[in-house]
Amino acid sequence: MQKFGVRDKAEITWISNEYELGDFGMGGMLLDYNGFNMKSKDMLEMIFEDRGIKWILGAGVTKVEDGLVHYENLEGEFKTETFDFGMLIPAFSGHGFQAYDKEGQNITEKLFRGFMVVDADYTPKPYEEWKVQDWPETYQNPSYKNIFAPGIAFAPPHPISKPRKSKNGTEIFPSPPRTGMPSGITAKLVADNIIDSIKAGKESLHHKGSLRNMGAACIASAGYGLTHGSGVSFTTFPIVPDYKKYPDTGGRDIKKTFGDIGLAGHWVKLALHYAFIYKAKMKPFWWLIPE
Ligand SMILES: Cc1cc2nc3c(=O)[nH]c(=O)nc-3n(C[C@H](O)[C@H](O)[C@H](O)COP(=O)(O)OP(=O)(O)OC[C@H]3O[C@@H](n4cnc5c(N)ncnc54)[C@H](O)[C@@H]3O)c2cc1C
Repeated sequence: MQKFGVRDKAEITWISNEYELGDFGMGGMLLDYNGFNMKSKDMLEMIFEDRGIKWILGAGVTKVEDGLVHYENLEGEFKTETFDFGMLIPAFSGHGFQAYDKEGQNITEKLFRGFMVVDADYTPKPYEEWKVQDWPETYQNPSYKNIFAPGIAFAPPHPISKPRKSKNGTEIFPSPPRTGMPSGITAKLVADNIIDSIKAGKESLHHKGSLRNMGAACIASAGYGLTHGSGVSFTTFPIVPDYKKYPDTGGRDIKKTFGDIGLAGHWVKLALHYAFIYKAKMKPFWWLIPE
C-alpha cells in the first residue's frame, strides 16, 4: 500500500488474544537485537508504530459478521470493530475427531485432546507448576504404539503463554505455536525411529526431541521487493522457555535468541522458499537442506 501511495486510505488494526504484542503464543521473548537485549513486545510495538498499525490485545473474538467483528476483552467488556477487509486466524484447537475401536467402543480419550495424544504429561496443573519436562519427546501415542503425531498434529500438554481469564471467566490467551522448523525436526525424528524399529524388528525410540531443547527460526514478510523488501527475523532457543536453566533471560539462551528487521530477512525468506520447494521435490542432494 505504501508502494502504491494508498497507505493513508486504510486503517489497519491487529486484534489478538495475546496479552502483549510479540507474545507469539510463547510468552514473548527477550531478544538480542543488534547487541542489545530487547523484549519482543518492544520490538513489535516499534514495528507496528512505525507502520501505523493499531492493536487491540487481550481480545477473544466471539463472532464475525459482515463488516463487524465482536470480541470480549480481559476487562470483560464486549466490543466491536468495523472492517472492510478482515482476516481471521481460527483458534488453534485441533479437530473434534471421535475414534472408535473394532468393537465400536469410543476410544477418543486415548487418541485425541483436540490434537493427538502423545508422550506428553497432560496432568492438569496450574501455570506455576508447568515444567519443560511436560513436553513430548517421541510423539508416540501411549496406547497405540504404532501411532505417532509429530509437527502440528500433537496435543500440547498446556499452553506456553500465561493463561488469562476475562472478568466474565472467558479464557483469553494464545495457543502454543507449532511452526515449520520444529514440525520438520519432529517429523524426521519420528521417521528415523520408525525406520530403526522396522530394521531392528523391535521398538526403537532413540531419536528424541522436545520443544524444550529445540530452537526455531521464523521470518515474517514485512515488505516485498528485491531491493525494498523487508523481513522480521527471529530465532528462539528453546521454544518452550526454561526459566530454571535461563532464569535471567526470560527462559531462553540469549546467544541463540535474536531478532532483526531488514532487507536481509527478505532475501533469506526468498532463498528458503525456493530451498524448501526444492527439498519437497527431493531433487539431487535435497537431504542436505536442513529443516
Ligand atoms: C498462513 C500460515 C503461515 C505460516 N507461516 C509460517 C512461517 O513463516 N514459518 C514457519 O516456520 N511456519 C509457518 N507456518 C506453520 C507451518 O506451516 C506449519 O507448522 C507446518 O506446515 C506444520 O507441518 P505439519 O507437517 O505438521 O502439518 P501440515 O503442513 O499441515 O501437513 C499435514 C498434511 O496432512 C494432510 N492431511 C490432513 N488430513 C489428512 C487425511 N485425513 N489423510 C491424508 N492426509 C491428510 C494435509 O493435507 C497436509 O498436507 C504457517 C502456517 C500458516 C497456516
